[in-house]
Amino acid sequence: MTYLYQEQNWQSQMSDLITSPQELLEQLQLSPTELLSGALLASEQFKLRVPRAFVKKMEIGNAYDPLLLQVLPHHLELEEHEGFVTDPLGEEQANQLPGVLHKYKSRFLLTLTGACAVHCRYCFRRHFPYQENLPKNDDWLHIKHYLEQHPEINEVILSGGDPLTLSNRKLALWIERLESLAQVKILRIHSRVPIVIPERIDEELVYLLKNSRLRVILVVHANHAAELDALTCSKLSMLVKEQILVLNQAVLLKGVNNSTSVLIELSQRLFEAGVLPYYLHVLDKVKGAHHFDLHTNEIDDIYRELLASLPGYLVPKLVREIAGEKNKTPLFGASSF
Ligand code: SF4
Repeated sequence: MTYLYQEQNWQSQMSDLITSPQELLEQLQLSPTELLSGALLASEQFKLRVPRAFVKKMEIGNAYDPLLLQVLPHHLELEEHEGFVTDPLGEEQANQLPGVLHKYKSRFLLTLTGACAVHCRYCFRRHFPYQENLPKNDDWLHIKHYLEQHPEINEVILSGGDPLTLSNRKLALWIERLESLAQVKILRIHSRVPIVIPERIDEELVYLLKNSRLRVILVVHANHAAELDALTCSKLSMLVKEQILVLNQAVLLKGVNNSTSVLIELSQRLFEAGVLPYYLHVLDKVKGAHHFDLHTNEIDDIYRELLASLPGYLVPKLVREIAGEKNKTPLFGASSF
């Protein structure tokens, strides 16, 4: 049965996501009484959305499963906490044109869709007004003009929403547009879809990325080794075999991966699939995510142990993004986070 399930194509999985907290709890054979009322309330603010393939990676009967905690709405999201705001990275300031965020000097973020395959409860863009910010077809001319006015930009980052929720045809159109500008040398795609619906890495996508004149980098997002089952690793390896650089970014989350052994296993599993750990982000202080936050001393201890346990190439950079800064801020060794 599992085999047949895994053969489902990614589009049909996208149209069959779990969006009901009750159904999710039933699938995991969890008694809904305690969790359900909070989940229903919190999901009114940021809907539950999770692919069945990701739920299959969770442990039946475990209410504290680290993958479940990332997606199940929780009543704690409704609490107000000082410093936790709707736009923690000040992205409204960087929003130059519909779909365009210019935060870093040589790089430029393009959000082509507000849709994600999964709603991560800690997402710093959980309140982002995507609908007002998506580029329409004829906005390309404005984007092109903007890029031409900024010749220092040589890398375009397709960011979230999740660009791999777009069809290959639409992706191909945007890649072709970017390829037409000589200044653009690198295309970076930030996506969680290959982790939550591994079938998204289909032959057509691999063909598209390997044949681009741009140097393509895929940055996936896995926070725990349990997200990297055999199918996911084999799909990521398909890209690696085609010389596409695949990196991972993770977020340090209380209850999910705040343990050195969990992070070691994550790095090792990534490496087995040919993926390098890139960033370990501390939580962005977004409203609704306070219960994932960790004390700076704990972060420091975990990271120190990680450095002592792994070769350098398996240790992701510990960073925080600070609104208005021109780069992510490295944290280890800093006097305060
Ligand atoms: S997939 Fe990425 S953009 Fe979408 S909710 Fe998760 S963290 Fe946010």
